[in-house]
Amino acid sequence: MRVGFGYDIHRLIGSRALILGGVRIEHRQGLEAHSDGDVLIHAICDSLLGAAGLGDIGQHFPDSEPEFAGISSSYFLIRCMKLIGDKAYQLENIDCTILAEEPLLNPYFPEMKAKLSELMGVTPQQINLKAGTNEKMDSVGRKEAIAAYAVCLIRNKEL
Ligand code: MG
Repeated sequence: MRVGFGYDIHRLIGSRALILGGVRIEHRQGLEAHSDGDVLIHAICDSLLGAAGLGDIGQHFPDSEPEFAGISSSYFLIRCMKLIGDKAYQLENIDCTILAEEPLLNPYFPEMKAKLSELMGVTPQQINLKAGTNEKMDSVGRKEAIAAYAVCLIRNKEL
């Protein structure tokens, strides 16, 4: 068994769609990024890569690459699952926390879990999502950004 940790934060800006966990969230702002800015998927990818000893998302999908401009982060997640699968690892479970002052994210959790489990080829029960605010402090608390954390456990299926 190996553990992995991931963290990401992106700035909220106007006139962008807010995508979290591969799901479109109703909000007046979205996340600034080279890709679609899905902080939750980015944190999940980093935790998966970290657990497998495969570095980080920036190494595999550099934001200097034009091919990744505006790309759906779902693609990164599918690729990361393939990368850990190629090293004979399978996901045991993943636990995530999203920090956003607004909007309320809990109502989207069933849809986000369904989408993430489909992309990752696991059951929704293997994915846990939590959301909180930053108690009005710092960039997240001032509604300038959304951050996400993820911890995962992977198992070598050949052992
Ligand atoms: Mg990111």
